[in-house]
Amino acid sequence: MSEVKTLANGEKFSHASVGSLHGFEGKQFVKDATGATSCEISFGTLPTGAAVPFFHSHKENEENYIILSGAGKFQVNDDVFDVAEGSVIRVATNCDRNLKCTSAEPMSYICIQAKEGSLGGYTMTDAEITERENRL
Ligand code: ZN
Repeated sequence: MSEVKTLANGEKFSHASVGSLHGFEGKQFVKDATGATSCEISFGTLPTGAAVPFFHSHKENEENYIILSGAGKFQVNDDVFDVAEGSVIRVATNCDRNLKCTSAEPMSYICIQAKEGSLGGYTMTDAEITERENRL
């Protein structure tokens, strides 16, 4: 099982890592390591032929799954569809979900859980270009 490590905490940021995603195993939530207040993020990996051992549903939070590698099947209630590296799947509240790896390589993914309907302004309406000395 991989672990999440907090690498740095600043006044305005937190930096955590689950390490290399190659060889990452299991499931790891990172909200506690970063102190995130708007969403929970987890990394997950399923070996060939494996599915999450249970279906689950959320009452208030939608989930957005991003498949990073591998391929498989995704089920939402009774609907089943193929997913693969690059897939982004949004799952609404109050429905059952599960995923299974069917590829020879493990399927790794990120799941971002946030309150359904909570996104207000974003990108063009929430962000603004700022002036700052570039120290990179
Ligand atoms: Zn969930």
